[in-house]
Amino acid sequence: MTKRVLVVEDEPSISETILYALRTEQFEATPCATGQEALDLLAREPFDFVVLDVGLPDMSGFDVCRSIRLHSSAPILFLTARDGEIDRIVGLELGADDYVTKPFSPRELAARVRAILRRTQTSTPTAPMPVANGNGKTFSHDDERKRILCRGLPLELSRNEYHLLLALMKHPGRVFSRDQLMDQAWQDPGAAGDRTVDAHIRSLRAKIRLSAPDIDPIETRRGIGYAFREPDAA
Ligand code: CA
Repeated sequence: MTKRVLVVEDEPSISETILYALRTEQFEATPCATGQEALDLLAREPFDFVVLDVGLPDMSGFDVCRSIRLHSSAPILFLTARDGEIDRIVGLELGADDYVTKPFSPRELAARVRAILRRTQTSTPTAPMPVANGNGKTFSHDDERKRILCRGLPLELSRNEYHLLLALMKHPGRVFSRDQLMDQAWQDPGAAGDRTVDAHIRSLRAKIRLSAPDIDPIETRRGIGYAFREPDAA
């Protein structure tokens, strides 16, 4: 099925190269040049993906993103012009899935769109799920006993590790910033720092390796944070 991508970019030359690259990759791409136009279009028509410039003439891409997230979970990829904007994308917990910095290769952008769509679709119930054990997944969650099983055996996790892994597992493919993970896994997020998350991810990986030495389901996204990939869904 053809995926519909909304391209929100006010610079015509950039917009055109993106449209061309996406259409070459068999996406149906729709352009628009302002934040308001984007929100109007999204309210009227379904889109599978949004490419969103941060610097728009009428409002900031951040505000557009927030408005989109009130109604839609379609993946969002930001186009940024400055390093400072990247910090905000990561820090503001906007629910964006990725970003590229200008200037970028349109072909790479199209490849990212495809990769993100593939990742986010693995969490839909219609996706085929190869069988690894009784319930079909390498990792499963036992809500009653508050534990996470790897290949049917419970992982020995601390409270924070448990909540951290659970947050990642619930949204396979979604990239979480360290702040987002902190909010999910720590009762008092203010008391922890970025390194605390990194340290817990390290120990989580080590514990998963004990049960399953052949997989590393936690992906590090440099400069962004972490994501979980169900090994069987790859
Ligand atoms: Ca712009």
